[in-house]
Amino acid sequence: MQFKRIGVLTSGGDAPGMNAAIRSVVRTAIGRGVEEVYGIYSGYKGLIEEDMELLNIRSVSNIISHGGTMLYSARCPEFKTEEGMQRAVDVCKKRGIDGIIAIGGDGTFRGATDLTRRGIPCIGIPATIDNDISSTDYTIGFDTAMNTVVELVDKLRDTCESHARCNVVEVMGKYAGDIALHTGIATGAISIAVRELPYDEDQAIAKIIKARENKKRNFIVIVAEGKENFAEAYAKRIEEKTGIETRFSRLAHVQRGGNPTVRDRVTASLMGKAAVMELLDGKSNLVICERKGVITSMDINKALKIDRMFKDLMTPEEYAELEAEGSLVDMRRHCEERAAAKLNLYRISQEICK
Ligand code: ADP
Repeated sequence: MQFKRIGVLTSGGDAPGMNAAIRSVVRTAIGRGVEEVYGIYSGYKGLIEEDMELLNIRSVSNIISHGGTMLYSARCPEFKTEEGMQRAVDVCKKRGIDGIIAIGGDGTFRGATDLTRRGIPCIGIPATIDNDISSTDYTIGFDTAMNTVVELVDKLRDTCESHARCNVVEVMGKYAGDIALHTGIATGAISIAVRELPYDEDQAIAKIIKARENKKRNFIVIVAEGKENFAEAYAKRIEEKTGIETRFSRLAHVQRGGNPTVRDRVTASLMGKAAVMELLDGKSNLVICERKGVITSMDINKALKIDRMFKDLMTPEEYAELEAEGSLVDMRRHCEERAAAKLNLYRISQEICK
């Protein structure tokens, strides 16, 4: 099929590096003979409302270094309804949009697969600071968010050292504690707590007391937001049980912004190019992934299932279905490798953060 016109959108939570991905999509597409590229504003909302603008090589100039997304992002519950979806398909037909590159998280990919099923080929690009899309080792925005956390926690640590204090820092990561695990190691946190790994609070507090006896003055404890209603109360318990003055800080949305790092700019550029190449090659319903350092792709439905499996959300019926179609072993291996890498990081952090 000849692709004359394609669309690109960013949807769901924003992430630094989305602009670099948009730029790469536009420039690759135009360079490969696509006549027009529509930038669709505010994700699927803009598609339904026909809020879009033609982008060209110059209009995506000077955005690679900017955080946020020049196409804006929004949640669009209407898109999940039959009428909303039909409206999106009608707009694509009216504007002659032959395919869409959707940059976002798993919700965005669910929308992309629905659109593909209705005849508009879509390719997804994973962008979320949490790195919680299990089909890919890396999601755009993760590195920038981690660097923001490290910069802020280093500052907290300086003042903890001066005053012999402890600071419990809550970082983003609802389903995945990846930001917490990496930044905990990078900032020399004495303890890291994430939802998906067991946490022995008594042991952690004993470690703080022992380190204090050994003349340690600064104590950073990193907690992922996935451990709900935990961090603030934990700070109080640490103070009570150790006698060390303990503060609580929630870094919140500051982690979502800022100029993307080299890692995010380069990965976004590679993924943007890969997405366009797959689309022009006649493929659809794929999510671009990075696996073991290589940019590759995976069927969106398989990617969504791996995600559910990794997050332990799959029903026995879904497991039986996968077994019947022969894909269970492969998907299980994928999840096991990912879990093992995470556990390894956790163990290393426990060993060297004292
Ligand atoms: P993310 O892509 O970061 O996971 P969301 O879960 O908010 O963010 O999804 C972004 C958008 O994708 C939603 O606002 C909605 O328009 C669309 N979307 C989410 N889930 C579905 C679904 N099951 N079917 C169709 N569209 C969906």
